Amino acid sequence: MNEHDSERISGLLEQDGMTNVGSVAQADVVVINTCCIRENADEKFYGTLSQLKNWKTEQDGRQILVAGCLAQKDRDAIRKRAPYVDVVIGTHNVHRAAELLEQTKSGPAVTEILDEAILDDYAMFPSALPVRREVSYNAWVTIQIGCDNTCTYCIVPAVRGKEISRSGADILAEVESLARSGVTQISLLGQNVNSYGRDLSMSARAAGDLSVKARPQFAELLRSVGAVPGIRRVRFVSPHPKDMREDTLLAMAETASVCEHLHYPLQSGSDEVLALMHRGYTAERYLKRLAQARALIDDLAVTTDVIVGFPGETEADFVRTLEVCLEACFDSAFSFIFSPRPGTQAATLVDKFVDPATAGQRYDRLKVVLDRTGALKHRQRIGRIEEVVVEGMSKKNPHLTTGRTRQNKLLHFSTSESLRVGTFARVEVTDAARFHLSGHLVEVGEAPTHKLRLTVSSIA
Ligand code: SF4
Repeated sequence: MNEHDSERISGLLEQDGMTNVGSVAQADVVVINTCCIRENADEKFYGTLSQLKNWKTEQDGRQILVAGCLAQKDRDAIRKRAPYVDVVIGTHNVHRAAELLEQTKSGPAVTEILDEAILDDYAMFPSALPVRREVSYNAWVTIQIGCDNTCTYCIVPAVRGKEISRSGADILAEVESLARSGVTQISLLGQNVNSYGRDLSMSARAAGDLSVKARPQFAELLRSVGAVPGIRRVRFVSPHPKDMREDTLLAMAETASVCEHLHYPLQSGSDEVLALMHRGYTAERYLKRLAQARALIDDLAVTTDVIVGFPGETEADFVRTLEVCLEACFDSAFSFIFSPRPGTQAATLVDKFVDPATAGQRYDRLKVVLDRTGALKHRQRIGRIEEVVVEGMSKKNPHLTTGRTRQNKLLHFSTSESLRVGTFARVEVTDAARFHLSGHLVEVGEAPTHKLRLTVSSIA
């Protein structure tokens, strides 16, 4: 979500006449879009901000804008620690970035933070703003903002507000416009995409339209976005296991453009810890839905998130996490040691904190299991021909080209041709490592039609 907000802020500033420069030294304006999900991000942010103090005083007219969820959370604290910041905006004020920079050129510094999204499409859904995309064949499309869940470790509901879905017609109009610009891959974005549209259904019924069923509309959205001509890959983040429904799995299975990849955050394998986290499912229910997903969707890759050392986690709880991870046999996982985020319920459970050495050992033990299943899943792909979208030259080996498969795996391959970013190709997998596949080009497919970089206003 933050990356997407950054694209929108860049788009707004470009529309206002600015250009992106290669370094801070050359810049007149520095924007820091913050995230407070992880603890060390806070520390890095304040470190960066103090380094910028000298940069700002070296030349008249230089400006600093701070945005994002840390700004939403810390508000006046940022101004107290760094009074030289010109503009502080919250997560619901992205659309004001250019205007406030202009205003503070001749006026005092501004902190503008809305507590909730206002009923203005630009404020609620940054997708409706101009954008400067870093990867032109792929577009993030916001379908929902905020979150109505109460996961006890998570700061998102406090900094992103309650869940609000964007209208299906708006989303579709944006996707159609993107497809006309040459975008072939859409990534639908929300904090809990599975519950997308529940609020829209309830409002329609409250307004007297009883033909609308009181349920989420994510499955229908996947089908309609997936049917837009020119869109060849649809991805989405993040689903919540509590709200995963069979109709979504069927939509994934029956819509050719929806990729065979499901990010399915487990967090813990212990029912006791899941209850402490307020996740709303048990390990058994999680595994049952996962088995159903694999039965319905051919060749499905599954990735996950796991938190180790949540307050109160015992050795038995942790062993259960290992067992569930083994049974789930994930393709890959983001695993984290619990870090308390001020303002969350879990941060208050100080007397239940797991000591850091134990949490560290558990993290290492979990990594062994995740590495093993990940490597196994990758080895199973050797000998297959995979469709990839070219992402560019391999960062480690300039003789190789890197592409991404439908299962969201990196595939480094040899080719005698120079392939433009966004080209579709077919590649034979000849080797597998834990985090990537290797292979050689079999056939070049469709060439990209996007311009190298596009700035579009997404709503016609
Ligand atoms: S579902 Fe839970 S973890 Fe995800 S954003 Fe909402 S509160 Fe945070």
